[in-house]
Amino acid sequence: AAAAAAPPRLILDLEALQHLDASEAGPLTRYAATIQAQRGDYNGKVLSIRQDDMRTLAVIYDESPTTLTERFISWGVLNPEAKGDVEESEA
Ligand code: C2E
Ligand code: C2E
Ligand code: C2E
Repeated sequence: AAAAAAPPRLILDLEALQHLDASEAGPLTRYAATIQAQRGDYNGKVLSIRQDDMRTLAVIYDESPTTLTERFISWGVLNPEAKGDVEESEA
């Protein structure tokens, strides 16, 4: 993708997140709650997150960012437009 193009946004559906099995969704739920607390943003139905946050979540879940993005979309907690958004890093 061209470096100049703005990537599509990563938008978590907080309502859908509440209805997931805590054993799988727990780390994501806690991460989203931390961002809400840092922003003082408690009233939203959705939460826009940083590209970097998907990379951090990928480490937490021990998955590639691409695989984790697809999983979150399949759970219904991430907007489908986010697919292929987070670039793999060679680090
Ligand atoms: P910070 O990263 O030093 O950002 C300070 C303030 O700059 C933020 O206060 C916000 O008003 C603004 N800001 C920074 N980056 C962005 C951005 O990409 N978009 C927008 N709209 N504003 C931005 P805020 O929101 O009260 O956040 C306070 C602190 O909480 C941030 O300090 C950061 O350390 C943390 N934080 C908030 N949201 C996120 C997040 O989505 N991901 C991560 N990793 N940290 C976050
Ligand atoms: P949008 O980005 O398409 O967001 C549409 C609506 O989704 C927002 O309406 C808000 O109700 C909700 N939303 C999206 N992300 C969050 C979030 O992280 N927390 C919460 N609580 N709600 C969220 P809203 O607030 O009336 O904003 C309308 C439009 O204004 C946004 O459309 C966006 O284009 C712009 N906007 C608002 N805040 C920011 C911002 O921090 N940064 C930038 N660049 N644009 C913003
Ligand atoms: P946004 O506010 O529309 O910002 C879009 C992109 O512009 C961000 O993508 C980031 O690359 C850049 N950007 C905006 N404000 C700042 C800033 O103060 N400092 C820096 N270094 N870059 C900035 P990113 O990081 O992927 O964030 C995506 C969306 O997540 C943001 O859209 C915003 O809705 C939300 N977000 C991220 N961090 C924060 C934050 O600290 N506070 C709040 N309130 N929202 C945040």
